[in-house]
Amino acid sequence: MNIYDLHEETWKRLGEWRDRLPHALLLTGQRGIGKFDLARALAGSLLCENPLPSRVACGSCLACAWMAQGNHPDFRLVQPEALAGDEGEGGGNDAGSSGKKKPSQQIIIDQIRALDDFLHVGTHRQGMRVVLLHPAEAMNRSTANSLLKSLEEPVPGTLFLLVSNEPERLIPTIRSRCQQLSIPLPESSRAQAWMAAAGVKEAAHWLALAGGSPLLAVELGSGDEHVLLDALVAELAKGGRLDPLVAAAAVDRVVKAEKRPASLKRLVEWGQKWFVDLILLRTGQAPRYFLAQSAPLRELARRAELPDLLAFNRKALQYRQQCEQPLNSRLFLEDYFLNYALLFEPVREAHG
Ligand SMILES: [Zn+2]
Repeated sequence: MNIYDLHEETWKRLGEWRDRLPHALLLTGQRGIGKFDLARALAGSLLCENPLPSRVACGSCLACAWMAQGNHPDFRLVQPEALAGDEGEGGGNDAGSSGKKKPSQQIIIDQIRALDDFLHVGTHRQGMRVVLLHPAEAMNRSTANSLLKSLEEPVPGTLFLLVSNEPERLIPTIRSRCQQLSIPLPESSRAQAWMAAAGVKEAAHWLALAGGSPLLAVELGSGDEHVLLDALVAELAKGGRLDPLVAAAAVDRVVKAEKRPASLKRLVEWGQKWFVDLILLRTGQAPRYFLAQSAPLRELARRAELPDLLAFNRKALQYRQQCEQPLNSRLFLEDYFLNYALLFEPVREAHG
């Protein structure tokens, strides 16, 4: 199954826009639904010299060959260095990152400045020029302002494709310069077909955990993400019996071993989903994400007070912001687990 089949409606819509494309298009939507792949497919189809009637790139022209090799001269992919290493994995070098500088999790201003030449020389194939920027929220203010200059003085025949999970974090001037297209969750049947094609079993289970995002679900069912998740769930399921120091040490090992970016942030996001389920169960509803853990979740929900759960859930937003900054993950996790375990104490000791 292809990404344009998974997002058939959106693909059709983009096809209709083809002849009157804006200078900048912002694709938004939930994490793991395939926005980036869709954006890349769009770039490929715009640069293809002989696209199919369905607007899909032909896959056999010179432009398509260049795209496949990642060296089309009229295409630029701008993403954090940490993500660039993600694709060509398999080095198997576990020696640790002792001497090496950690790759940046951010799109840096030099990457935007480096676009200047690209934007101001003629295209190689007399066609369009496409810049794909992903994830757009990974830009600090000065980087975003540098990009803004290019968005404000559009170069004819050039499309900026921005992809974002969290468009609310983009500066408003960037958002207002882009035509925004929100990509909906694919229908469950299509998502399951996608997962079957990827060879993932128990599709419904992973899809629920991923909140309906099929690409994330495939990652969970086949990749490393579930290692992180399992480590977290093993601790959270202990409720009031959780030992914050032991839990922090165990989970921190997994967080540090993770090679992909923002492992701590992803962990906290999983924790937020755990809380959604706790709150749903506490209010007599069915869990949404952790279907396989319904029984322990139900038991935990019984032993917690709703206002405390809601308060922790609000605090989780702060936790998420905190882990955007470099911090001591071990101490962060100790604090997180300490506050979590407190939720389940049946009787609070009065001091004094
Ligand atoms: Zn082609």
